[in-house]
Amino acid sequence: MSKRIEGGCFCGSVRYKFPFNNYPSANCHCSMCRRLSGAPYVSWMSIPIVEFEYSQGKPTKITSSSHGARYFCEHCGSPLVCILDEDPENIYITICSLDRPQDFEPKGDIYTKDSLPWLKI
Ligand SMILES: [Zn+2]
Ligand SMILES: [Zn+2]
Repeated sequence: MSKRIEGGCFCGSVRYKFPFNNYPSANCHCSMCRRLSGAPYVSWMSIPIVEFEYSQGKPTKITSSSHGARYFCEHCGSPLVCILDEDPENIYITICSLDRPQDFEPKGDIYTKDSLPWLKI
């Protein structure tokens, strides 16, 4: 069996998996990520949507802007994934919902002009 990357929400209701590979990733400093996560920025990784699957449960959708939707665990509120209308082939997962986020260092920073002045990047 090929190696898989797995993750899920804090309470364990929602679990997901996808094949091990080298995927694009970045820390996003936009104000939407900040407000919806309660954190200074959110680290995302982009997976081809055909490779991604839920192994347990399904998250709840929030239409976060006119061009995308975010999905959270309805029980514990963990932010899990985001799908952008402009990029429907990919699903963005929160690196910190992975079981081993330490293995997936974000490759860059986006929306840095919106970052908090006290944040050291
Ligand atoms: Zn949960
Ligand atoms: Zn963002």
